[in-house]
Amino acid sequence: MGGKVLIVDDVATNRIVMKVKLAAAGYLPLVAADGKSCLALARSERPDLILVDLLMPDMPGGEVLARLRADPATRQIPVVIFSASHAISDRIEAFRAGADDFLIKPLDDQTLLARIRSLMRAREAMAGLMQGEAALGLAEGAQPFQTAGTVALVMHRPETALALRRALTGRVRDAVLVLTPDEALASGLRDAPGPDVFVIDADLPIQGGGLRLMSDLRSRASTRTAGFAIYRAATSTVSPAMAFDLGANDLISPETAPEELALRLSRLLRLKAEADRMRASVQDGLRLAVIDPLTGLHNRRYGLAYLQAISERAAANATAFAVLVADIDRFKSINDRFGHGAGDAVLVEVAARLRQNLRAGDLIARIGGEEFLIALPEIALADARAIAERLCAAIAEAPFEIGSDPAIGVTLSIGLAVSEAGETPAHFEKVTDIFDRADRALMRSKAAGRNQVTVCRRAA
Ligand code: GH3
Ligand code: MG
Ligand code: MG
Repeated sequence: MGGKVLIVDDVATNRIVMKVKLAAAGYLPLVAADGKSCLALARSERPDLILVDLLMPDMPGGEVLARLRADPATRQIPVVIFSASHAISDRIEAFRAGADDFLIKPLDDQTLLARIRSLMRAREAMAGLMQGEAALGLAEGAQPFQTAGTVALVMHRPETALALRRALTGRVRDAVLVLTPDEALASGLRDAPGPDVFVIDADLPIQGGGLRLMSDLRSRASTRTAGFAIYRAATSTVSPAMAFDLGANDLISPETAPEELALRLSRLLRLKAEADRMRASVQDGLRLAVIDPLTGLHNRRYGLAYLQAISERAAANATAFAVLVADIDRFKSINDRFGHGAGDAVLVEVAARLRQNLRAGDLIARIGGEEFLIALPEIALADARAIAERLCAAIAEAPFEIGSDPAIGVTLSIGLAVSEAGETPAHFEKVTDIFDRADRALMRSKAAGRNQVTVCRRAA
C-alpha cells in the first residue's frame, strides 16, 4: 500500500528504529526531531500519517497536534500520539485535541503495523472522496453542523452493554442502542440508514465471533460505511492486529475510561459524518454535471455525448435513428410580456410535455436556452415524423396555465433528420452531420411560419 509516514521523536534512536521498521513494511518514512520541524514537514510533504512522541523539549505532542488540526493544509492528516505514559489525563487531552489514536510505548510491531494499515486505509478512502469533490469542482465547504448519529453496542453480556451505555450517557448526544448480533444484521438489511458506529464484542458467542459479525455488516448496503470499534479484553483470543486487519477502525477495552470511550466513538462518528457528507456532495455533483437544474432534463454536454452513443449503436446494429432539434417559438416575447419567471415556468412545462410524449429509451436534453435535442433510436422516417408532429401538438394544443397570468399560448418548431439504416459503417453519416441537417430543418420550420415540423433528407 505504501504512503508517507512522518515520525516525530526527539530521541534519535527511536526515530531510527521506527524508520527502519516502516521502510521494511513498504512505507516512505520521513523524520522530524522536534515539533517545529514536524509542522514544517507536515505542510511541505503532506504525509499520509504522523506519529508524534508526546514528550518533546520544544513543544509537547499535544500542542503539535493542536497546531496540525488548526491548519487547513494539515487538518485531515491522521495523527497517532506515542507515549510511555499511562496517565488517563494525557490520553483524554490527546483525543480532545483530535488524535486518531494514543499508543503506549513500547508497542509490538505486529500491532503497530496493523494499526498503521488501518489508518492508511481509512485515509485512502477519504482521499478518494476528496478527489471526487475536487474533480467535480466542488469546493470544500465549511464544516457543517454535525447532526446526532447512532451508536449500536453489540456485546456478549448485557451488563457490559449497559455499562458502556451508562458511560456514554451525557457524554455523547448521539443515540446509543443495545443490539443482539441478529438485530445488528437486520439493521444492515433495511433500506433505511443503519447505525453510524458499531461497538462489537470481539468474543461474541457466535460463529467467527465479533470479527465475523463486523465483516458481515461491512458487506451490507446500509452498514457498509459505518465505523467499527472492536471491544476486547486483554484475555481475548482476538489479537488487536487481527481486528485492525479485518477492518476495525478502533479498539476499546474494559479499561477504557468513560471520557476516552466517548471521545473515541465521537471521532468515529465525526469521520462517518464527514464521509457521508462528501459522498452525498459527490453524488449531487455527478448529477449536476449531467442534469439541467431548471427542467431536470439532461444538459447539453450529456445530450451530445449520448447522441454519439446512440449513433455508434445504430451503426453497429445497422439500424436507423432520428434526431430532432426543437425550439420554442418567439420565446423572447413570452419573457417580455410575462416576465422571466413565467418564461422559466414555460420551459419547465414544455420539458414535461415533451418527456411525457417520448419513450423511456429516447433521449431528451436541453441544449440551449429554449432549445431541445431529442433522439429516437431504432426508428424510420415516417414514425419519427409522426412523433415530431405529436410533440408540436402537445405544446400547441393546450395553453400554459402559469401562476395568475392569463394562459399563455406556446408553440414549438422542430427540425428532423433520420440516419439511414443498413449502411456499411464506413459510409455511415457522421452524427454531427445528422445533427446539422436537423438544425437546418429547424430554420426552415421557423422561416415557414413556426409551429411545424420540417425534415431535411440527406443529400444524395
Ligand atoms: P424564435 O421563434 O425565432 O426561436 O424566437 P425566440 O424569441 O424564441 O428566439 P431568440 O433566440 O431570439 O430568443 C430566445 C430567448 O430565450 C432569449 C432569452 O432571453 C430566452 N432565454 C434563454 N434561456 C432562458 C431561460 O433559462 N429562462 C428564460 N426565462 N428565458 C430564457
Ligand atoms: Mg426560440
Ligand atoms: Mg433559440
